Amino acid sequence: MPEYKTYEQKRKFYLSKAWKDIRIAALERDNYECQHCKEQGKVTVDSIKEPGKPKEIKLNVDHKYPIEYYPKLALTLDNLQTLCVYHHNLKEGRIFKKKKNRWADDEWW
Ligand SMILES: [Zn+2]
Repeated sequence: MPEYKTYEQKRKFYLSKAWKDIRIAALERDNYECQHCKEQGKVTVDSIKEPGKPKEIKLNVDHKYPIEYYPKLALTLDNLQTLCVYHHNLKEGRIFKKKKNRWADDEWW
């Protein structure tokens, strides 16, 4: 069973083909909408890439049970949910409150 506790371990995971594939599956299942916004009746979808500009990331695919503690669920579709950056940060901020430098690997989420 792989572990996802260090930055390097997580980085490798988030760059893996297996993650990229299941991430897309989660986005498609969730209709490319933030699931928390949806509960509140709001639609938050990803921005369209405009030529010459970097794409603004609005949606993340989140592990409901963090892979750090539940590595078995890292590639389980039921453990994934599409969240906007705001709701993702809100969730991670709550869970990893005590951890320093918690945004260091944010770009991989
Ligand atoms: Zn949201």
